[in-house]
Amino acid sequence: MADHGSSSAPGFDFGDEEQVGASRAVPQARRVAVLLPLPLPEAYDYKVPAGMELGEGNYVEVPLGPRHLLGVVWGPGAGEVSDTKLRPVAQRFDIPPMPEIHRRFIDWVAAYTMAPPGAVLRMALSAIGGMEPPKPITAYQLGDPGRLAELRMTAARRRVLDLLADGPPRPSAELALEAGCSAAVVRGLADAGVLEPVLLHPTRNIPAPDWRLPGPVLSPEQAAAAESLRGKVAAAGFSTTLLDGVTGSGKTEVYSEAIAACLEAGRQVLVLLPEIALSAQWLERFATRFGAPPHQWHSDLSGTQRRATWRDVATGAARVVVGARSALFLPYPDLGLILIDEEHDPSFKQEDGVIYNARDMAVARAHLGAIPIVLVSATPSLESSINADAGRYGRLDLPARHGGASMPDLKLIDLRLDRPPRNRWLAPSLVTALTETFAEGEQAMLFLNRRGYAPLTLCRSCGHRMQCPNCTAWLVEHRLAGKLQCHHCDFTMKLLDVCPSCSAEGSMTACGPGVERIAEEVTQLFPDQRMALMTSDSLIGPHAIREMVRRVQDHEIDLLIGTQVMAKGHHFPMLTLVGVVDSDLGLGGGDLRAAERTYQLLQQVAGRAGRAERAGRVFLQTYMPEHPVLQALISGDRASFYEREADERHEHGMPPFGRLAALIVSGEEETTVDVVARALGRTAPRSETVQVLGPAPAPYALLRGRHRRRLLLKAPRAVSVQPLIAEWLSRVEVPGSVRVQVDIDPYSFL
Ligand code: ADP
Ligand code: ZN
Repeated sequence: MADHGSSSAPGFDFGDEEQVGASRAVPQARRVAVLLPLPLPEAYDYKVPAGMELGEGNYVEVPLGPRHLLGVVWGPGAGEVSDTKLRPVAQRFDIPPMPEIHRRFIDWVAAYTMAPPGAVLRMALSAIGGMEPPKPITAYQLGDPGRLAELRMTAARRRVLDLLADGPPRPSAELALEAGCSAAVVRGLADAGVLEPVLLHPTRNIPAPDWRLPGPVLSPEQAAAAESLRGKVAAAGFSTTLLDGVTGSGKTEVYSEAIAACLEAGRQVLVLLPEIALSAQWLERFATRFGAPPHQWHSDLSGTQRRATWRDVATGAARVVVGARSALFLPYPDLGLILIDEEHDPSFKQEDGVIYNARDMAVARAHLGAIPIVLVSATPSLESSINADAGRYGRLDLPARHGGASMPDLKLIDLRLDRPPRNRWLAPSLVTALTETFAEGEQAMLFLNRRGYAPLTLCRSCGHRMQCPNCTAWLVEHRLAGKLQCHHCDFTMKLLDVCPSCSAEGSMTACGPGVERIAEEVTQLFPDQRMALMTSDSLIGPHAIREMVRRVQDHEIDLLIGTQVMAKGHHFPMLTLVGVVDSDLGLGGGDLRAAERTYQLLQQVAGRAGRAERAGRVFLQTYMPEHPVLQALISGDRASFYEREADERHEHGMPPFGRLAALIVSGEEETTVDVVARALGRTAPRSETVQVLGPAPAPYALLRGRHRRRLLLKAPRAVSVQPLIAEWLSRVEVPGSVRVQVDIDPYSFL
């Protein structure tokens, strides 16, 4: 298969162009194929009961074994099961059918990721109950006036009757509240027949974002980028654009113009953000810009919110949806624009269940729907950057910060020369910079991507290291919580006084720093400064995050210490110093993307400094000051760094120049896992162009109690790997106790 030029997403081809038509009615046949949200290989046939009209995309309830399940009519029945054995569809839900584009998208994702279509459908039906209209509520209006004569009138009863005489029917609780009486009074009137019940269908009052509201006056560069995006929306065809601009350049303001254009055209907008729970500031800005909040979709929603949101999307009432990667699978009837903010972020890759990259799937969704998609980043992924350079994607650059704010000044601290004292982690020059910052009444941030107090605990007498019994991982000390914890499974244990191996007392020692340990050091150095930890352990839920962001903005905190939770998107005007405690973390290991990712993360962290009038300073502590990633950061020469990374990938046939797919074989019994892994190794498709590496123990050879082996398939871009892998898997018998997961375009090599 050849490249499709402009219609090609990062690692895949779309096949022949097809026209998207209207939802077809299933022909006269009284059977339909219903796809169920289960990992089944295909849709099942059901009988259409007399009097029920069904078309493709209808949401239905069907029996399966003893259960009743929600499903979607996927097409006409296949007819393999005899009529007499067919079970009937139980119910059709009264909600617009799943759009054809969406069904094709689900099939496409399933084929691409090699997941069963039902497993992908499950992500689209993740709000069970959303298909049912909200329950009607009982309200009361005046009933038979004849009954009044028999009624013993009281003051309370009078008030209720007066209220209803010149008002709409109301539920009893509301009436009681307004009339200042108990609900029993209303009930009494209803029992006497003076009031009669009516069913009200609740209407949700959904304020719509208003595209007419003016945005800020854009700079000429911003205006040009915004105009270009408005043009793509107006053209209403498939296009991919990379919006590449330094942090603080106004990318959000620019793409807001594209949102406005799409709203004006009357179509829906989807914005994907990494970790929506962290994006309180984004939501506030949106509400200010458009006068109403967007619909949100993420894992912290309550069941009721999920159902309502799902329904609002399906009916088209939701105009703008902002969400985490799963928002891509909502059934938009008229999606007109997709935006992916921080498109390089690894959290767009889902690593369990259906393994997919939401950014790449979003490009496919945009292609199917013939709509524009905009990828936004200050540090684009190498894939997107290469696609833009090759002309497959459009590119819009915003090279300067808005309003003349200067980019922060980045400096390396060579820890070999500028040594922290023993058992301390901050170099003297960083401590000096902190002192200066506090003296100016400004804020500082220390970044270390390590939760807890120390990443490793060992015995000074015998050298025993505390390891997780279920995973190939050290136990992390969380001193504040008084425990050792595995960050991969739920295993925790109390902190130890005695070595479990040699029984030496008081010999257990914390090795290396986590954020808690940095906090301890800083408290000793600066006892008068107000400090806060910002990690996923201390910030649980969107409220805690919002509150923390507010405290920093209101300058109730002088020093923030945190992990990558803190790196994302926040805008703190008084923050002028950023210290990266360990810039080398993440550079080790042979991971394909180690350098790229570290660059992106550190650049993003650095971007937190000096976002307003005050200039920012960034210090990167390192033992490898000559490392290309660190050199690229301090020189600000991103282009040559990306170029070198791209050359290297090109030379080795790595993505996006070649394709990768991983097989992960896992199970509780090591020998069985090995047998399957070796069988896969023997039967692997190998040719002049296709290589298979492995099987090899995964870096996490034991994870949550499962032994793991990996195989990696490498092929040129022109090879379609899915059929190869399907054939390969069909040649090997896999017992039920072993799982083989396919990871197309792997991101993590763990
Ligand atoms: P980015 O998304 O590129 O990091 P933002 O859109 O968040 O940049 O802009 C950074 C800050 O500058 C925000 O507070 C934003 O409101 C402000 N800003 C950007 N462009 C303008 C503009 N044209 N007029 C007024 N304020 C702007
Ligand atoms: Zn574990």
